[in-house]
Amino acid sequence: MQSEFEFINKIKNKSRKPQPSQAVVGIGDDCAVLPKNAKTDLVITTDLIVEDIDFRTEWTTPEFLGHKALAVSLSDIAAMGAKPVWSMTSIGIPQAIWKTDFVERFYEGYFRLAEKYNVELIGGDVSKTPDKIVIDSIVAGETKKGKAVLRSGAKAGDLIFVTGELGGAAGGLKLLESGFNFNPSEEARQKNLVLRQLQPSPQISSGDFLSANKLATAMIDLSDGLSGDLRHICRASNTGAKLFAEKIPFDKNLNSLFESFEEKIEFALNGGEDFELLFTVNPKKYFQAQNEFEKRRFSLVGEITANVEMIELIRDEKSGILQPKGFRHF
Ligand code: ADP
Ligand code: MG
Repeated sequence: MQSEFEFINKIKNKSRKPQPSQAVVGIGDDCAVLPKNAKTDLVITTDLIVEDIDFRTEWTTPEFLGHKALAVSLSDIAAMGAKPVWSMTSIGIPQAIWKTDFVERFYEGYFRLAEKYNVELIGGDVSKTPDKIVIDSIVAGETKKGKAVLRSGAKAGDLIFVTGELGGAAGGLKLLESGFNFNPSEEARQKNLVLRQLQPSPQISSGDFLSANKLATAMIDLSDGLSGDLRHICRASNTGAKLFAEKIPFDKNLNSLFESFEEKIEFALNGGEDFELLFTVNPKKYFQAQNEFEKRRFSLVGEITANVEMIELIRDEKSGILQPKGFRHF
């Protein structure tokens, strides 16, 4: 059976591009990039969110779901170093859910986040489904012409960074799977992990900072996990990478709930959904921006190499090859 990556590649090869193509970037990055005018490019992304595949109604609330539907697309806009501007959202809802206050509460969560980033909902569609909830979230935004940060710009010798802390969303999912029910009065660490899973924060400000200062050579958002998403950068950039296991910033809320290093690194590498940014920087640029990187708590986790598509994980000064594993829909 073909993987999601093989499927996307097949579509990419089959799609008949008009000549000349109007797209600056088409299939293969976090967003497509289109020319707007002499100064500005448009970026646009879509995400499909399916009940019982991407979320479970018994583990979340309609408000969290509305927030997350928008947040995952905002995260792709952040990964281009762009500013979000417009959104469209389509929802398919089973009859029984339609009769409840689900939709109202969904948009409550959606608009709260949209307001924070000044995103204008400009359309969408609504239909019934036989059984499960389906949401298609589209967000469009803008960058300075030619300044969208692509997955394909990493060079051997570039340093690899992540924003924030990793593994929290996977830890939260594990808690939910093990029967933990979200309850605001629950213990803070558990609550924080569950919130990382249910209510992710898109890293718009970090993405904007990196592109405005021309610091990132390549960037992606961490939706699949460090292992899979670094692989996407390596494939697109025709490079390899080294990751330093001891330098990965694990979510502090995992401490004492998930003690073993094995479990934490598994969450960070293969858990996904942290929606932090993974980016590469030329070492000279890093030395100039070091103070700002420290202030913003960006963590240096590795280095880009010339070993095409080979990702090494260095731990206790020993090196092993990291096998692809990230979250798969199929
Ligand atoms: P992300 O995790 O950043 O949302 P995806 O892994 O979903 O990215 O998609 C990777 C690339 O493949 C994107 O450019 C996306 O637009 C494209 N893509 C995904 N599914 C399809 C599809 N069914 N048809 C065409 N392009 C697709
Ligand atoms: Mg992405």
